[in-house]
Amino acid sequence: MKTSLRLHLAALLLATFTCLPASAQEGRSSHIDSEGNELIHHRVNDQGQAYSGYAPTVGSTSALSRSSQLTYHGGSVFSTPSVYLIWYGNWAQSNGTDTAAGQQIIRDFFSAIGGSPYFLINSHYVGSSNSITGSVTWTGKEASPGYSHGTVLSDANIATLVSDAISAGTLPKDTNGLYFVLTSSDVNESSGFCTQYCGWHTHGTISSSNLRYAFIGNAARCIASCAAQSTGPNGNAGVDGMVSVLAHELEEATTDADLNAWYARNGYENGDDCAWTFGTTYKAANGAFANMKLGTRDFLIQRNVDFRSTGGQYCDLSHK
Ligand SMILES: [Zn+2]
Repeated sequence: MKTSLRLHLAALLLATFTCLPASAQEGRSSHIDSEGNELIHHRVNDQGQAYSGYAPTVGSTSALSRSSQLTYHGGSVFSTPSVYLIWYGNWAQSNGTDTAAGQQIIRDFFSAIGGSPYFLINSHYVGSSNSITGSVTWTGKEASPGYSHGTVLSDANIATLVSDAISAGTLPKDTNGLYFVLTSSDVNESSGFCTQYCGWHTHGTISSSNLRYAFIGNAARCIASCAAQSTGPNGNAGVDGMVSVLAHELEEATTDADLNAWYARNGYENGDDCAWTFGTTYKAANGAFANMKLGTRDFLIQRNVDFRSTGGQYCDLSHK
């Protein structure tokens, strides 16, 4: 009886806390949108670009300090997220970045990231109610709404783009889905793209369900702020820069889908701890820096927090 009451109280407390409106964690880079959703930022480049052949920032090889260490707060994680893409703006331009070839770089990334040594880092996150497989389902499902909301988007517009695609039947409503809104370089996100962030992820009620979505703009709009180098390993600096931000948002949404699962005392999620640091790099065929091969392509992707089997949390490119 006592045990059962205690369990009920615990459940009630948990329900109370998880139902509180979003409020920013101290130290975390984020903002609250007009609907009350917290949007967690991928901060702009604070490490400088890899100019004149100098490699991108390797980053610290020490264990994370206590305030940066990730702990589990009881919320949902994605066992295997299903990825949907919304190509906003014009992705058939002749500017060398908002192109069909640029889109293919991102599709190839999503089809190869699941099960990679890099993404399997997330499967070592312990203590969640459902486990993280380290796989990612690339659904191949996309929407291309053009400039349906103009060239300057608000946070609310991003959520609306997801809901538009679902209402139109272009994308399914999937509570196991992660919807990425990807903007061409002539589009701004007015809450701070290029100045406050390069991308963000959140969750919110869309079409009466709790859905997870993210914004990532083409880094060509502000290459020094949102890319680590001005030549990318796939010859498209803007899109190659986006890929690292996409990886960051993918791993954060997987481990902290509703912003109440894995994060640190300082408010950081796993990607934030390692943003703009790349570990050991090599030169791709075109001379740009890369640090991993996924499928047939070279990519330069930021490190992620690894729970090393020898103990401690470190920024790594694969599980150690
Ligand atoms: Zn982040």
